[in-house]
Amino acid sequence: MKTPLTAPISEIFCSIQGEGLYMGQRQVFLRFAGCNLACGYCDEPAALDAAAAEPMTPGAAAAAVIKLARAKKAKNVSLTGGEPLLRWEFIKALAPLLRKAGLTLHLETNGVLHRGLAAVKKLVDVVAMDIKLPSSTGGKARWADHRKFLSCVPEKTFIKAVLTSKTSLADVKRAVSLAAAVRPGVPFFLQPATARRGKARAPSAKFVLEAGCLASARLGRVKVLPQQHPLWGVK
Ligand code: SF4
Repeated sequence: MKTPLTAPISEIFCSIQGEGLYMGQRQVFLRFAGCNLACGYCDEPAALDAAAAEPMTPGAAAAAVIKLARAKKAKNVSLTGGEPLLRWEFIKALAPLLRKAGLTLHLETNGVLHRGLAAVKKLVDVVAMDIKLPSSTGGKARWADHRKFLSCVPEKTFIKAVLTSKTSLADVKRAVSLAAAVRPGVPFFLQPATARRGKARAPSAKFVLEAGCLASARLGRVKVLPQQHPLWGVK
């Protein structure tokens, strides 16, 4: 007998989007467990352990999301993580069910798994793509993967790069150059880390100003925007 398609889902909840271009929008969040990276500033360590999460089928996950969206009057769903694109086959089955219910799909991703993106890009409406600055994450550089990823994102995409006390201006410059070369009109968010963000410390005000100035010199749609949901006291 064929094993049913499932994915480890760590939580499904309704809240207000606290980051990026759709900040302030009511959304249902479907959080996948498991990630291919290990950023030092990760604020979702509970979502990294796929083995501890509940395996759900696309049908069960869609039913739970649609029920919550209707109860809370939400029109948008964020597929978040962990890293959702580790489960691109699951998303291929899930997305049409959510769209059929009239929901708009946002994909929040670390911007590395370009093959997974290629498989689902026509099924999602918005992509919120991270560019992982190695000096921020403490991990290895992902420039080549980010370039391939950005080359195949849908029209409605924005980029986010997290700044910490360890971030180098050279990394910010490289991320900006990448965006300018591949997608010059893309909205680009510099997100200073908040104290709540894992073990990371916030960058200095001087560094944030310098990074913002550097990015604005090359890109037309740059904003400095820290996470808002910790300030609002919501999830
Ligand atoms: S990509 Fe996101 S979920 Fe994965 S370790 Fe980094 S911050 Fe955490």
